[in-house]
Amino acid sequence: MTIKIAIDGPAGAGKSTIAKKVARLLGFTYIDTGAMYRAITLKVLRENIPLSDKQKIIEIARKSDVFLEGEKVFLDGEDVSEEIRKPAVSEKVSIVSQIPEVRKILVNKQREIAKDKNVVMDGRDIGTVVFPEAQLKFFLTASLEERAKRRYEELRNKGTDVKYEKVLEEIKVRDDMDSKRKDSPLIIPENAIVIDTTHLTEEEVVKKVFEEIKKIVRGEI
Ligand code: C5P
Repeated sequence: MTIKIAIDGPAGAGKSTIAKKVARLLGFTYIDTGAMYRAITLKVLRENIPLSDKQKIIEIARKSDVFLEGEKVFLDGEDVSEEIRKPAVSEKVSIVSQIPEVRKILVNKQREIAKDKNVVMDGRDIGTVVFPEAQLKFFLTASLEERAKRRYEELRNKGTDVKYEKVLEEIKVRDDMDSKRKDSPLIIPENAIVIDTTHLTEEEVVKKVFEEIKKIVRGEI
């Protein structure tokens, strides 16, 4: 038996930071599913494909080789880990991720990567669609302002010139699209443990996650 830990939630709630840390501490594989949608979006933008051309986008998703190695993301062999985080991709990714066929292709890939492995996986539909049978499901959230602040600081630290208001608006629009789409919308999975990280430090969130893991190990859940 393998263990699957699902971490879902809106943009900027701290999912990837926490997922990476928990995976490292447990010796599990970390799988960043958002990076896969971002890599496909990057290719769509690079090839100047109109976002209204769903067939072309599906073709791109089908033909592209998206590969995760630790915390790095490769697109057709090229390391795109930095580029997929840029605002140009963030602004468009939720349009690409709404296409059901794109989701099907990537969800199959995610299940294939995680098969036979103990994983910590973060995204929007992990506990509901990708691994509804996951032993542990978390839903991380935080106030919109706090999430925008974190994303803004992250981008500024990387040297990206952005305005706080623009980041806040981008996150708001993305959350709205991710939550309202027909296929696999962002919702709190059944049996998920909800953690509001607005006033918590990274260490405090990791501690809470480990408390839940311990309950499972002790057979309390
Ligand atoms: O997690 P991250 O913010 O990098 O995800 C980028 C986008 O990818 C999300 O806003 C969403 O549109 C899409 N996504 C998704 N399903 C996932 C992970 C990400 O639709 N499991």
